[in-house]
Amino acid sequence: IDNQLSHRGAARSVIAMAAMLAHEVKNPLSGIRGAAQLLEESVVEEDRLLTRLICDETDRIVALVDRMEVFADRRPVQKAAINIHSVLEHVRRIAQNGFARHIRFVERYDPSLPPVLGNRDQLIQVLLNLVKNAAEACPEQGGEIVLSTAYQHGVRLAVAGSDSRVHLPLLVSVQDNGDGIPEDIQANLFDPFVTTKLNGTGLGLALVAKIVGDHGGVIEFESVPRRTVFKVSLPMAADSGALVEGA
Ligand code: ADP
Ligand code: MG
Repeated sequence: IDNQLSHRGAARSVIAMAAMLAHEVKNPLSGIRGAAQLLEESVVEEDRLLTRLICDETDRIVALVDRMEVFADRRPVQKAAINIHSVLEHVRRIAQNGFARHIRFVERYDPSLPPVLGNRDQLIQVLLNLVKNAAEACPEQGGEIVLSTAYQHGVRLAVAGSDSRVHLPLLVSVQDNGDGIPEDIQANLFDPFVTTKLNGTGLGLALVAKIVGDHGGVIEFESVPRRTVFKVSLPMAADSGALVEGA
């Protein structure tokens, strides 16, 4: 447990450092981009390829930095009672019209699930990241993603960073039939920059963990070949509302 705690502390300072770096790196980057754009107008035709390259590559860094900056954002987000099924539907539609065209989706929803107190945009980001990872893990042929929701009666989970166990009755899970999560990264899976992909950022799951934590929820995973599942447990809006009002 000690090891886990100090590990969490280390992850936190890595996040803080990444956020600071992200912030500091943006000004010089926009300087570089602006200069390259000016150069583009005065250089000879065959050198324009190079100035274009500078612009495109700076844009790539800026996009990466924008994602890192999300971690720095300490402003409280607006929350409302959200129907998680409408979030799942939205995410499935984005996936099936884009990166997951070739994948079969199976939906197992508990229609009586009560709403969660959350931020719709952030919950979309959580599920989109999980579905994207699932799609990237799926085999080329016969890829399948199972989206499910369930009400967990009486399940109490420990929330990271506190001794208290709270009732997190809303279970949302994303399952795929890929090869599974490599053993050697499982312990650090939610840390930033952990990736096994050639063009991966390793920021997806770190962002997911941050948002789930900000929602007072817990994320867990189980992984064996042909069955990897990420389970997000969230408080229901009715409970959170009572907490807020009682405070
Ligand atoms: P990225 O997708 O950019 O690599 P993530 O934080 O989203 O970053 O994921 C980190 C790593 O976790 C991935 O590179 C992959 O190795 C592993 N991973 C995440 N989800 C899955 C999954 N569903 N199946 C197998 N491996 C996964
Ligand atoms: Mg990812």
